[in-house]
Amino acid sequence: MIRLKNTLTGTTDEFKPIDSKAIGMYNCGPTVYGKVHIGNMRAYVFADLVKNVLMYNGYRVKQVINITDVGHLVDDGDDGADKIEEQAKKEQQDVKSITHKYTDYFMFATQALGIDSSDIEFPHASDHIQEQIDMIKRLEEKGLAYVTSDGVYFDTAKFPAYGELGHIDIKGLQEGARVERNDEKRSVTDFALWKLSKESRLQEWESPWGVGFPGWHIECSAMAEKYLGKTFDIHTGGVDHIPTHHNNEIAQSVGANDAPLANYWLHVNHITIDGQKISKSIGNTVYIEDLQARSISPLAYKYWLYTSHYSTLSNFTYDAVEASQKALHKLYTFLAQQTGTGKTDAGYKEKFTALINADLDTPKAIALIWELMKDSLVSAPDKKAALLDFDEVLKLGFSDVRPADTDSVEIPQEIIEMAQKRQHARATKDFALADALREKLAESGYAVKDTDTEIGFTIEKL
Ligand code: AMP
Ligand code: ZN
Repeated sequence: MIRLKNTLTGTTDEFKPIDSKAIGMYNCGPTVYGKVHIGNMRAYVFADLVKNVLMYNGYRVKQVINITDVGHLVDDGDDGADKIEEQAKKEQQDVKSITHKYTDYFMFATQALGIDSSDIEFPHASDHIQEQIDMIKRLEEKGLAYVTSDGVYFDTAKFPAYGELGHIDIKGLQEGARVERNDEKRSVTDFALWKLSKESRLQEWESPWGVGFPGWHIECSAMAEKYLGKTFDIHTGGVDHIPTHHNNEIAQSVGANDAPLANYWLHVNHITIDGQKISKSIGNTVYIEDLQARSISPLAYKYWLYTSHYSTLSNFTYDAVEASQKALHKLYTFLAQQTGTGKTDAGYKEKFTALINADLDTPKAIALIWELMKDSLVSAPDKKAALLDFDEVLKLGFSDVRPADTDSVEIPQEIIEMAQKRQHARATKDFALADALREKLAESGYAVKDTDTEIGFTIEKL
């Protein structure tokens, strides 16, 4: 039995799928106006974990992650510039170049973190304008939307369940904002479904209400329905999505379809640095390549993420992730030393399954791995089999460790780090440093050779 903490009910509930074999899951995706940082990536490591746990339990999963390439405004509300357009102007490039560049970067980060995206659907908001217009029309026909001089708004007063997700204090919001209320908006919680272009924009479309662009929330409702149907099993996002974005999605979809949007709403907490949420606006961002520049593998970051529960606020430090890297390397070294694979111990498999099925308790699952490693009653090949089995869920790269890697494992850590630094120097075109490091490696008795593998090099003893 799988149990998941469901924001909709506020409790940890037994997972009961709509279809006994195939699960539908929607994960709110990135706004591609800049590089995703390691905080953003926690949301997608989490979504992948949910999928892998479901698959480990024998389900098939249809997963959708949207790409927001229009309509997300700078203030996250209904005013201000479009984040993408603003970035396009800043970089003096057209919108498509910007959205392609940062979508590609998101794909790079996804791959670096060991997330298999081959069977994920990634619909772009700008490719689904008609679906969004159709849904707004349905809402208008049902009397749930109204037109203002600025666009079409959802009338939250007509949707009594508004704010139920996360028990948002709607009355408090309305009272607090009475003074500065937008005069044409009937209620402070009403939100834009379609915005009219006041002047010519980089991205705009014809619509029954005039030339404009969709609001940020409608894309998720429209694309979720297109790819997963009116009601599906699981919807995920960051905790910041609960008050507005997800309540708005529910209002739109339930309003248009008279059916629940998703049965389980899962929310992943933030990553902080020095106690502050990682965010572009604060400027405390850390990217995948910042880890790599310090010879930290993105999978070590993933291991570190697993050491706390997805629902807790976690504070990132390089020291903590370096400690995770050491732990992960110990496991890689063990795996590389085994030539044969045995059988997964049934007791450990049962314990592991119980932990991950208990609302994805990765900290305890990681602790169980170390309990297994220390257990003298389990043979080394059986330990290896268990690690490989658990990796179907954790995806920490265990299955990529080859016994042939034993040679490289014997190479001292500082030599490996030097080679990684050289690799980074080459990647950033600092060839002088790259050459100096090659010489230093040679002086220490090692030859580094470039390869087109994921690691990018091999090290040989001279
Ligand atoms: P955005 O591109 O701003 O729509 O954000 C994409 C995802 O990243 C959302 O699910 C956010 O909740 C999540 N996110 C943003 N900042 C952080 C952070 N510091 N830690 C964890 N998740 C974050
Ligand atoms: Zn969404």
